[in-house]
Amino acid sequence: MNGKRLINLAAFSGLLGGPFFLTAQPDSFKEITKGVWFREGDLKGHGHCNNIVIEMKDYLVVVDANFPSGAQRLMADIKKVTKKPVKYVFDTHHHGDHAYANAVWTKAGATTIGHEGVVAEMKAREPKRWLEAAKEREDVRALNLKTAEPPKETFSKSPHVITDGTRRLELHHFGWAHTKGDGFLFMPAEKIVATGDAVVNGPYNYTSDGNVGNWPNVVKGAQKLGATTVLPAHGPHGGPEILAGELAFMTELRKAVEAARKSGKKLEGVVKMEKGAPKSTTLTLPPAVKNWVGDFLPMQVFDAWKELEAGKPRGDLNI
Ligand SMILES: [Zn+2]
Repeated sequence: MNGKRLINLAAFSGLLGGPFFLTAQPDSFKEITKGVWFREGDLKGHGHCNNIVIEMKDYLVVVDANFPSGAQRLMADIKKVTKKPVKYVFDTHHHGDHAYANAVWTKAGATTIGHEGVVAEMKAREPKRWLEAAKEREDVRALNLKTAEPPKETFSKSPHVITDGTRRLELHHFGWAHTKGDGFLFMPAEKIVATGDAVVNGPYNYTSDGNVGNWPNVVKGAQKLGATTVLPAHGPHGGPEILAGELAFMTELRKAVEAARKSGKKLEGVVKMEKGAPKSTTLTLPPAVKNWVGDFLPMQVFDAWKELEAGKPRGDLNI
């Protein structure tokens, strides 16, 4: 998600007829399996993303830098469970709630790493967003930097493997969904995947830097990994049903917008704007994807529409 947009957290239990979807537990820190912790960020209160901590033999790997205040909360939680140092912080993409604490981690001795698309996105969009965030957020302002710090290491070949002989971590890139730098972390032995914002568990899909048309292909790439535990960057963790739901949501979104356009409707009749931003929409999506439908729907419809209209990804139109 883009950290500026905050939305109400909802309870997800009972969705799709199963006990799969846990209720949101902001600021909870729990061990998913031995040496793997999932920290659910306080999205509503502070715009924090979720974090994952993975214990290797002599060091730790963290998924997502978070905003600086989120990084500080995570560091405090880590201290309660281990004395090992954080060696790598994997930015799943360039958004502030995932990467703006990069400088906090590098100062603490860690190496930040991301797909080369993370750096490309920062080059295209910064320092504008950093300066906006610094106006609004004390934690970003307090770093006293002129722009976002890009990941120190990048990878282009997927998967990029991190291993110390005891545990294998694969950093994957399946193409452009939420951003051009979308990265997934997969643990083949444990069958755990951390998805970044390309797959979320709840109404958190920010589409304005995205590629709605290609989004389902990226999720299909992640599905092929065969993970049984899915750790999204926003919303509670769960199983493969989160991947299936994300895929269905993006497919239904595009289908609904295509159908409206084919029926001769105009964008102004489908999305109502207020102060230059999408405010409401007449389009509805099937009940099966309701876990992903929320306050962002007008923006998502608007972005999908613009993408279809221009014949190129929304993210390229939003620079
Ligand atoms: Zn994001």
